[in-house]
Amino acid sequence: MLHAKFANLHTYQTKEAGSGSTVLHSLTPRPLTPGATDDTTMGLLNFVKSFGGSGSAVKSGIIADAARSEVSAHTLGESFPEDEKFFGLENFGNTCYCNSVLQALYACEPFRRRLIEHREETTSMSSSGVGSKPPESLLGALGDLFHEISSQRKRTGYVAPKPFIDRLKMDNMLFRGHMHQDAHEFLNFLLNECCENLEKELKENGRYEPQQKTWIHDVFEGKLANQTRCLWCENTTNREECFLDLSVDIEQNSSITACLNNFSAKELLGKEDKFQCDRCGGLHEAQKRMLIQSVPNVLCLHLKRFKYIESIGRHAKLNHRVVFPAQLKIPNLVDDAVDPDAAYNLFAVVVHIGSGPNHGHYVCFAKRQKKWFLYDDDSVELVDEEQLQHVFGSTQDSSSGSEHGYILFYSKISTSQDQSAAA
Ligand SMILES: [Zn+2]
Repeated sequence: MLHAKFANLHTYQTKEAGSGSTVLHSLTPRPLTPGATDDTTMGLLNFVKSFGGSGSAVKSGIIADAARSEVSAHTLGESFPEDEKFFGLENFGNTCYCNSVLQALYACEPFRRRLIEHREETTSMSSSGVGSKPPESLLGALGDLFHEISSQRKRTGYVAPKPFIDRLKMDNMLFRGHMHQDAHEFLNFLLNECCENLEKELKENGRYEPQQKTWIHDVFEGKLANQTRCLWCENTTNREECFLDLSVDIEQNSSITACLNNFSAKELLGKEDKFQCDRCGGLHEAQKRMLIQSVPNVLCLHLKRFKYIESIGRHAKLNHRVVFPAQLKIPNLVDDAVDPDAAYNLFAVVVHIGSGPNHGHYVCFAKRQKKWFLYDDDSVELVDEEQLQHVFGSTQDSSSGSEHGYILFYSKISTSQDQSAAA
């Protein structure tokens, strides 16, 4: 079992090294407190307006008018291919948690491409044709939505993801109400559900093999080495764990690199938490450490901003300033990692705006063709890259700034040539 510190690490699968057995963890989203209020109408941009002049907007860390512009053929410039579409998503009553994550996934080039390819393969196999019946799975609904956006004639506008939302509500009762939901819980449910949908399809076609990976694993999966050293006999036990995303604890005035190092800090297992050692057979104190063994193509990092505070008996939001760079190297790899020099480019940030876990608003910054866009439900705007600095958080937790980077998406730079090109 995972130690409590890592309880929120969303491993969907645990493979005991050498044993070949697989344990599936259930990943049921946690319901949020009933009766929660919401202020979804107070989007990031409305927020700007309500704060008045650009001076105060900049000061409170919110996007100023001068730093954003409408998406048009003129503002996009000539570098954009015709088939790049910039579409907002209509809000169906507090569905910004969903819209913001969908935009990040749409900006994730390998995910979007594989999803649309998969949709083409499966719809050509079925005789029913496109759009003649409601999607049978969340994966199908997502494929239809991405197809709807990518096949638009216009370059910009917005679409209504109603069939997707209906399917989501059918598949998971926790998303059924009109309450504000957690964007990370949604992302987690979506990816796991889509993996299950793919596995089911493979089984139905007689093409499934045990432990088979899907294309979603190709995009997001990395591996952790869970190392435990028995302090009695000095033997180290290695256990491999797969992940689709990592949840990291955050500290005030830190960086994402510090968060990852902290994630891999050594931990003493003692007292009631002693380790049962296979080698010496005893129950002993041990030192535990979790390092990244193989890196994913797309690294998805969830900052644990919503923390249960015992003294107040509920979850509260941590406004800590956590800086995330445009380019990242993973600091917490095992010594013999497969791809030790892997570097990553930031391409999407899901931002939570608001003071608490049960209310607020989500928007998404996403990079497409070297430009940054702000997706706020049905609106899409071009923004200056510097604006991302306003969602790092505040150096003083009492500060009024309430918009924070919550889920970060980094894509691996494939070769050293690409790396110099992107720099
Ligand atoms: Zn031992």
